[in-house]
Amino acid sequence: MSAPDRPTTDADSESWWAAVQDRTLMVNACASCGRNSLYARPFCPYCWSEDVALAPSGGRARLYTWSVVHQNAAPFDTRTPYVVAMVDLEEGPRLMTIVENCPIENLHADLELEIDFREDDGFVVPVFRPAARSIGKEPR
Ligand SMILES: [Zn+2]
Repeated sequence: MSAPDRPTTDADSESWWAAVQDRTLMVNACASCGRNSLYARPFCPYCWSEDVALAPSGGRARLYTWSVVHQNAAPFDTRTPYVVAMVDLEEGPRLMTIVENCPIENLHADLELEIDFREDDGFVVPVFRPAARSIGKEPR
């Protein structure tokens, strides 16, 4: 994983990225206070307990905010325009990601999304697309 468009993993994120390669999105689940968080780290950012473990997310989220990127430097320029987004997972954590397969004019706050996985050169990254049940629904 040394390409410029790939994440740098460390001891805390290695198992999270390994799960993503298996097309599973994980959250950091706290057994002490019951809250979930991201990014993956060896403690809970809410109660500081170290009794945390990765747990699979259902992959459902709502769009919190987004930005449409029209220009970027290589190697990211091949994808423009693309949508960088902050999404709120059903399990709680807010995640920075990419929204795909959604016309820009259809983006709106609270848009229902579901997980998708994009594979580039054998490396899988988590992205989101509009949830199947919200396709064709008018923005509120
Ligand atoms: Zn906690």
